[in-house]
Amino acid sequence: MSEKKKILTTSAGIPVPDNQTSMTAGKRGPVLLQDHYLQEKLAHFNRERIPERVVHAKAAGAHGTFTVTNDIKKYTKAKIFSKVGKKIQMFGRFSTVAGEKGSSDTVRDVRGFALKFYTEEGNWDLVGNNTPVFFIRDAIKFPDFIHTQKRDPQTNCKSDVMQWDFWSQVPEALHQVTILFSDRGIPQGIPFMNGYGCHTFSFINAKNERFWVKFHFKTQQGIQCMTPAEANKLAGEDPDFHTHQLFESIKKGDYPKWTLSVQIMPELEADNYQWNPFDLTKVWPHGDYPLIEVGVMELNRNPINYFAEVEQAAFSPSNVVPGISFSPDKMLQARIFSYTDAHRYRLGSNFERLPINAPHATKVQNPYQRDGHMRFDDNGGPGPNYEPNSFGGAKEDHSYDEPPLKLFGDAARYEQKRGVDDDYIQPGNLYRIMSAKQQKELIENITKSLKKVPSAIQERMIGHFSKADKAYGNGIAKGLGLS
Ligand code: NDP
Repeated sequence: MSEKKKILTTSAGIPVPDNQTSMTAGKRGPVLLQDHYLQEKLAHFNRERIPERVVHAKAAGAHGTFTVTNDIKKYTKAKIFSKVGKKIQMFGRFSTVAGEKGSSDTVRDVRGFALKFYTEEGNWDLVGNNTPVFFIRDAIKFPDFIHTQKRDPQTNCKSDVMQWDFWSQVPEALHQVTILFSDRGIPQGIPFMNGYGCHTFSFINAKNERFWVKFHFKTQQGIQCMTPAEANKLAGEDPDFHTHQLFESIKKGDYPKWTLSVQIMPELEADNYQWNPFDLTKVWPHGDYPLIEVGVMELNRNPINYFAEVEQAAFSPSNVVPGISFSPDKMLQARIFSYTDAHRYRLGSNFERLPINAPHATKVQNPYQRDGHMRFDDNGGPGPNYEPNSFGGAKEDHSYDEPPLKLFGDAARYEQKRGVDDDYIQPGNLYRIMSAKQQKELIENITKSLKKVPSAIQERMIGHFSKADKAYGNGIAKGLGLS
C-alpha cells in the first residue's frame, strides 16, 4: 500500500477537490454554474458515444501476428511476404453485420473479418467477411440491401418480408443467401470460422507483372457451427457470447490461428475465364485455381481498452501496400471510397493518426495534410505544408507506380454478367456439396423465415432455388406446403 497517491484532475490537469459532491449555494441551495468540474463531467459523458457504424457495429477485436510460411515472391513484391519466417504485427476486428452495437453475437448473419497488417510500407487492411461472396455485385444496391437487414420504417422491427422481397428480385443474392442459411450462418465462435478477402485484388511482382488474387483465411480450429436453438438461447442468456469467448481464449493462452492461402490468376486469363473474376457474387472454384499457402495468422493479445482499440479501429479496402492493389470489382471500387468516408464521419478527418490506426512503419504521416478536428500530434511541426517545396519536404517516388491496367469499352451502366445467366450455377454447386444433413438444415432454416412472407415472394424465391437445384427448390416448396 506504499503506492504514491494519484491525484484526480480535470481534463486540463487541475486537481479536483471533490468528486462526490457538487457545489451549491448554501447547504440546501441549487448548484452553482461555476462548478466547471461538474459541467465537464456531465458534458463529456454526454459525448461518450460516437456515431455507431451503420453496419458491423457489434464486434470483438484482438491483436496478433502474421508469419510467412511460404515464398510467394514470384507473385508479389509486398514486403510483408518478403521472407519465409517473417513475422509482423496485426489487428483483427470480427463483427456481425446488421445488428446494432448492443445486439446479440449469436444471430444468423454474415461476420465481418477485418484485418490490419502493420507492414513496413504502411498499413494493409483486408476488410473481408467469413463468406467468400456477397449478396450484390454493384454498390449502387448497397443502401437498399442494408435497409432490408435493418428495421422496418414504421414498426422499427426487423422484417423477414423486407429481406426476402429484396432477395427475390435480386437473383445474384442467391449464392450468399445459401451460405447464410446453411449451418455456417451461425458460427460457434470467431475462432471457428474462415475469413475471406472476398473481392478479387491484384498482386504486382518485382518485374511489375500483375496477377489477380483472392485471399482465404482457413481456421486451424476447424469449422464449428451453432444450432439455431443453441443460438437463440444464448441470444437471451449471453448476448456477448462470441466476444468473451475470444477474450477468454486469448487470456488463457489458447491463441486462435488461421492459415492464409491465395488463389492466383495471371492477368490476361481474366479476359476469357468462364466466370467474371471481378463479380463479388462468385468464387473461383478451387479446381480452376487451387489454394497456395502463404502464412499463419495468430490472435494472441487482447485489447487493453475496447473503445481505444476496437471501436476506434478504422479499416479500409483503400489501404493497400506496394505489391498489393485493386481490381475492376465494382463493389471493391465503391468500398475504397465508402469505408474512409464512414471513418471521416465517425472519427473525424484525423482518424488514421489514432494509435490503433497509425502505421508502425513511420512516425511521419503525410506532412502536407494539416489541421482538422482533434489533431493531437505536432500537426506536421514547422516544416513546409505544401509540395513541391525547396525546404527538404517529403516527395513522391515513381518507383511505386503500378503497371498500367488496360481497360476498354464504352461508359454505360452494365449488368456485370457474362452471356449466360450464371447466378444459379454456383449456389447449386454449393447445395450439391453439402451433406444430406446440411441440406436438410438449410431448407429448414430458410423455410422458417420464408413462412412469414407473402406467397408471391415465396413463389419468386422457389423459382430461384429450383433454378439452382431442383431438389433445393422442391425442398423449400414442400417446407412451405406449396406444390
Ligand atoms: P470445393 O469442393 O473445392 O470447395 C468447397 C468449399 O466450400 C470449401 O472451401 C468449403 O470450405 C466450402 N464450404 C463447405 N460448406 C460450406 C457452406 N455451408 N458455406 C460456405 N462454404 C462452404 O468446391 P469449389 O471450389 O468448386 O466450390 C464449390 C462451391 O463451394 C462454390 O460454389 C461455393 O459456393 C463454395 N465455396 C467455394 C470457395 C472457393 O473459393 N472456391 C470458398 C468457399 C465456398 P472448407 O474447406 O473450409 O470446409
